[in-house]
Amino acid sequence: MATGNTFDDVNPATGEVAAQVHEADAALVDEAVRAGHAALAGEWGRTTAEDRAAVLDRIAALIDLRADDFIAAEVEDTGKPVALASSVDIPRGAANFRAFAGMIRVHGGEMYESATADGTGALNYSIRRPLGVVGVIAPWNLPLLLLTWKLAPALACGNAVVAKPSEETPATATLLAEVMDEAGVPAGVFNLVHGFGPGSAGEAIVTHPDINGITFTGESRTGATIMRQAAEGVRPVSFELGGKNAALVFDDCDFDKAVDGIARASFMNTGQVCLCTERVYVQRGIFDRFVEALAGKARALRPGDPHDAQTTLGPLISAVHRRKVLSYFDLAREEGAQVVTGGGVPELEGAAAGGFFVEPTIWTGLPQSARCLHEEVFGPICHVMPFDTEDEAVALANDSAYGLAASVWTGSLERAHRVAGRVDVGLLWINTWYLRDLRTPFGGTRLSGIGREGGRHSLDFYSQTRNVCIKLGDG
Ligand code: NAD
Repeated sequence: MATGNTFDDVNPATGEVAAQVHEADAALVDEAVRAGHAALAGEWGRTTAEDRAAVLDRIAALIDLRADDFIAAEVEDTGKPVALASSVDIPRGAANFRAFAGMIRVHGGEMYESATADGTGALNYSIRRPLGVVGVIAPWNLPLLLLTWKLAPALACGNAVVAKPSEETPATATLLAEVMDEAGVPAGVFNLVHGFGPGSAGEAIVTHPDINGITFTGESRTGATIMRQAAEGVRPVSFELGGKNAALVFDDCDFDKAVDGIARASFMNTGQVCLCTERVYVQRGIFDRFVEALAGKARALRPGDPHDAQTTLGPLISAVHRRKVLSYFDLAREEGAQVVTGGGVPELEGAAAGGFFVEPTIWTGLPQSARCLHEEVFGPICHVMPFDTEDEAVALANDSAYGLAASVWTGSLERAHRVAGRVDVGLLWINTWYLRDLRTPFGGTRLSGIGREGGRHSLDFYSQTRNVCIKLGDG
């Protein structure tokens, strides 16, 4: 069911319309929320953690079984190279369900034997109950991965959900709805709506009085809007927002590993991962050599048809996003950047000529105060700046309104831990980047988010505890 309005789903690797999608309005969102509450009042509300873990395991198995369909849909929607979708996005979609199936099986509450004035004693224990109907709003950069990162723990905890993928990338969520049915998820538990944010399905979810919690990944500005709207009903929110992530490269690092790691961190998914590194600070002694080596990696990337095994760089997600990234290319030049490599649009042939590609780009020479060093570009760019001392490196990393992720590259164990304790971020990698264990906390400080997801942090957010106290009496 839908409103009658449709919108275009565009393939960013060609610029062509791939599908028409039905947009949900407030009435349809209301129906979805009511379906969620009905499901909670029915069979789903009586499931045990073990029942739900079994459902999650079935979903994971079905994603694996239909991996080729999911990969094709993700490549069509995002333009990302097949190798990336098949090694990261789709396996992680299945892994999210499998991981939270395991974790919900062992997630428990607290128990205390308490004293009472009359000496008979009391027993306190806490049980976990779902929040209710959770609104799940996801972005376009890792569509299945980030949607399932929220859905899996939400369902593990026994919630029903109203989920909205980004308007840019509706395809894999639609396939997931089929998988949910096949896996035996009861009607009303997973409600998928498509549409935009303001004045559309997104706003309708956030402002619905019977949505009991909101989990959102996207831009910090959108997070602030959603938080204002969610405040009305005093709803809990979990936000994974933007970043302007730094890498600190010390002269005692393993040079080749650092260059490889930062090339990956700056250009993976065309720089469209919230964790991507846009600011690289390199100790002066190895600065020139490092810039040259990183530029070599950038120049070796091959933009083009995502189905071609030789392609290593996809397009940006949309024409609008490419205009934004190109405006930063102009701004960087105005602010005094030297363009080491890139800075334009690659000349491509065939269908890719219509795609939203930009060149992987490296700048040097900007002053730390430049806007390009403070605003998230979300494209295949990084700026490299020299530093002299550890204190200076830490101060530069912390000179940001964001606090999502950072990486430190050094051969000194002492330095690694010292710096890890001083950089104000939610996620810090030492001599690596984007290595994830799904049990660990994930999220950012300051403009980069509210709360942590991952492991018990997700299970804590998607459930609430009820303390039960029983006076034991004399017997
Ligand atoms: P976005 O904020 O524009 O949109 C994200 C989602 O929110 C979309 O589904 C959109 O339709 C919806 N939305 C927009 N306005 C809304 C509103 N007023 N009410 C309700 N819903 C609304 O973000 P995007 O451009 O899709 O994603 C890119 C951003 O996401 C970047 O800033 C990136 O850093 C961030 N991100 C963060 C993480 C993280 O884990 N911290 C992960 C991935 C992406």
